[in-house]
Parts: sequence; C-alpha cells; structure tokens
Amino acid sequence: MKLIEMILNIINMNRDSLRQSLQNNRIQRLESSNKPNMPSLPKMVTNAAQAVVRNVQSVAAGNDLRLSSDEANARLSVCKGCEFFDKNQERCGKCGCFMALKTYLKAERCPVGKW
Ligand code: SF4
Repeated sequence: MKLIEMILNIINMNRDSLRQSLQNNRIQRLESSNKPNMPSLPKMVTNAAQAVVRNVQSVAAGNDLRLSSDEANARLSVCKGCEFFDKNQERCGKCGCFMALKTYLKAERCPVGKW
C-alpha cells in the first residue's frame, strides 16, 4: 500500500511540474508575441547615421550633447510605459535605438512625439 501511495505521489508531482512547465511555455510564447518588431537593419543604420549627424550639428551649434540624469530618466519612464518599448532589450520598436543611450542625447526625439 505504501509503495502504491509513493508511486501515486511521484505521478502527481510529475503532473504538477509538467503543468507548471506548460504554463511557463505558454507565458513565454505570449510575451514574445507581444514584443514590438524592430525596424529593418537598413532602416536602423539610416536612423543611427541621421542621429550622428543631428547630434554633431546640435553640438556644433553650441548645444550640450547630453541631458541631465533627471531629464533622461523622465524620458525613459515615458518609454517604459510605451507600447513600442521592448522591455527585454530596452529598445524602441519604432527606431530600434537603445533607450538608455538615446534618452540622454539632447538632440534626439521620440519618433512618435511622446517626448
Ligand atoms: S522613443 Fe517614443 S516610441 Fe520609442 S519607446 Fe520611447 S516613447 Fe515609445
């Protein structure tokens, strides 16, 4: 009788762990399907080149390159609530930029006008 109980416990444990594993898989699939798509590589290269030109022109015009940490964090908190923000990579799905850097650059703008 003890042996049968032990076997039943093992089966139940495995069933619980299998159920948990399936649930984790389902959550991962849902999370990845909610990830915003990044722009194509040529588009990201173009965006980066335009950003370099924009920032060089801004500095040449006498502006600071960087914002303060408070100003950058205010921008980043807008991004963190944005539907285009990829939380895993901390990147914008509209421009493909890494937001920890872009939010610090004074001449940069949100591509959809949120900041
Ligand atoms: S830059 Fe604009 S579009 Fe991109 S994640 Fe931030 S708020 Fe959203």
